[in-house]
Amino acid sequence: AKELGRDNFQFYAPEFNSTAQEKFFLQEELRNALARAEFTLSYQPQVDLRSGHVFAVEALIRWNHPSLGTISPMKFIPLAEETGLIVQIGDWVLHEACRQNKDWQDAGLPPIVVCVNVSARQFRESNLISRVVNALKDSELEAKYLELEVTESLIMQNIETAVATMNELQSLGVQISIDDFGTGYSSLSALRTFPLARLKIDKSFIKDLAANENDQAVAIAVISLGQKLNLRVIAEGVETEDQVAFLRKNNCDEMQGYHFSKPVSAAGIVQLLNTGG
Ligand code: C2E
Ligand code: CA
Ligand code: CA
Ligand code: CA
Repeated sequence: AKELGRDNFQFYAPEFNSTAQEKFFLQEELRNALARAEFTLSYQPQVDLRSGHVFAVEALIRWNHPSLGTISPMKFIPLAEETGLIVQIGDWVLHEACRQNKDWQDAGLPPIVVCVNVSARQFRESNLISRVVNALKDSELEAKYLELEVTESLIMQNIETAVATMNELQSLGVQISIDDFGTGYSSLSALRTFPLARLKIDKSFIKDLAANENDQAVAIAVISLGQKLNLRVIAEGVETEDQVAFLRKNNCDEMQGYHFSKPVSAAGIVQLLNTGG
């Protein structure tokens, strides 16, 4: 992998002899990634199924490593969780997403909500609330234009503290949604006590939606649960027209997925909103 002299690059892609070695290398690199400004955010539009309007975007982190190229968050977020770096990285994501959303508004685009993924460790940090407050203050973004996505498994671990944290967020005006819904074990009574804006049907149930009757049953159950609890329901991972038709027919509220748009740069969102998304 080392080709010194071809380009004068500083780094070279190491050859890992084991996954442990690779993990160690990535953890070391992750420590420097913030200071080296190697992270960016991509934004994936969320669309109202009835009006077709883009009303929100989900911020998705990207790590552009100088020699390894783009590393998937599926690979490095778990490492960041293990080392605790997720707290600083998550803080950067919060600030960047709020700043960008305010920039779009200042540029005259129709206001949209930016959704930020919050990991378990970040959610449990005692100062999550003050970090959110600071991100809003620094960006001058109104709280109602920020939404936090937490996973079902995270909030079910400790329902009481999750409810308390969420109530504080709600009193700030920040919205909360449950990500990857259907993959964990939500107690229905607990679900009612959370101050939620919406449920996100996990993409594993959407993938074979057109053909798989079990997945159809899950999707329909989540949609009707949302209706009963007065929550909006969004389907993620929507790739085909068949899936869209099924979701429309069954009164799902919103969708997100490659069918409408892949995650794009901030400039890509400007283009999309300007052309009347
Ligand atoms: P997620 O929150 O469930 O995000 C949805 C993932 O599905 C994203 O992958 C997105 O690019 C992908 N996706 C969107 N539309 C489609 C589709 O139509 N088909 C398929 N097959 N996939 C689609 P991505 O960006 O690689 O992120 C993976 C995971 O990494 C996220 O899953 C989330 O758990 C985590 N993640 C991403 N950004 C952040 C972040 O800023 N903070 C934290 N804590 N986690 C993040
Ligand atoms: Ca998410
Ligand atoms: Ca998800
Ligand atoms: Ca997921």
